[in-house]
Amino acid sequence: MLAAVLYGADDLRLTEVKTPEINDNEILLKTKSAALCGSDIRMIKNGYPCINKDNPRILGHEISGLIVQVGKNTPGFFKEGMKVSLAPNFGCGLCNHCISGNTHLCREYRALGIHLDGGFAEYVKIPEAAVRQGNVMPVGESVSFDGAALNEPLSCVYTGLVKCDLSPGDTALIIGAGPIGMMYAKLALMWGAARVIITDISAERLDICQKVVSSLLTVSSSDLKRCVGELTDGEGADVCIVACSSPEAQANALELTAVNGRINFFGGLPAGREMVTLNSNLIHYKQLMITGSARASLSHFRKTLDFVENGLIEVTDLISKRTPLQEIAEVVALAGEASGLKNIIYFD
Ligand SMILES: [Zn+2]
Ligand SMILES: [Zn+2]
Repeated sequence: MLAAVLYGADDLRLTEVKTPEINDNEILLKTKSAALCGSDIRMIKNGYPCINKDNPRILGHEISGLIVQVGKNTPGFFKEGMKVSLAPNFGCGLCNHCISGNTHLCREYRALGIHLDGGFAEYVKIPEAAVRQGNVMPVGESVSFDGAALNEPLSCVYTGLVKCDLSPGDTALIIGAGPIGMMYAKLALMWGAARVIITDISAERLDICQKVVSSLLTVSSSDLKRCVGELTDGEGADVCIVACSSPEAQANALELTAVNGRINFFGGLPAGREMVTLNSNLIHYKQLMITGSARASLSHFRKTLDFVENGLIEVTDLISKRTPLQEIAEVVALAGEASGLKNIIYFD
């Protein structure tokens, strides 16, 4: 089968590999849609600790497809031909995190497309642990394969927003107008935010966002402090999301957030830039709550899949380009330049 295989930093190869064979406890998925994520771009650019020439990896962790083969010992619930969304992260199943439903926080967590082969290939082998832990979720007719793949980042965004305790009528400020920032914007609106302000260093991106969601208040980063002040009567935002990898944006978030405000640092920072000076008096006097989030639990994955399935939120309008696997280099380049929003690899 054809696959996009990472061999190390800046060494992604489109190549023929052996189609995976499953054992009696595993499931074989025929990939239909796999979305390109910012973390894929970082892995391609910088490499990843467990990936090298001797241990190459098929990337892609935002995956949907059709079950084409089920091992005879898998639960009878799974059937050939079933349309599914695949959550990529699974845990040991035994530790306290796993037992509490947070397999994505397990110390030994593993992810398809990172530690095991993922969705930038015609077929994906789903290991027994992922089958047994509930990572394979059927989706209804109302959800497209692209929508089912995009549920993965949506579930991570939901995890971040849950921590921010958004109430109807709140003002949300989102720093970073990429696909993640836009998913935050859409979820915040769904959740009853009175206004959602979104900012980015790229005017082109803000234009695209405005076209996708007309009710967004788009603000250029150079004018941010003044605009947030004007839009919130000098109070600042109730909820502020930092959906970019910028230490400066993290520090600024404290200034732009209101008394009793909640902040989520969604974007991780590049190695060497993770030590950030924050004005702790702002945390103290404004009683700010600063949260972080990474990945998503399976229960959050199911929750957002419900949102998508029931039409509470549309995610496919964030797709700027769909391309077959043969042309993956083109969308990797586009995503590397932060051009457009979400890129999808589709399979016939
Ligand atoms: Zn992702
Ligand atoms: Zn565990």
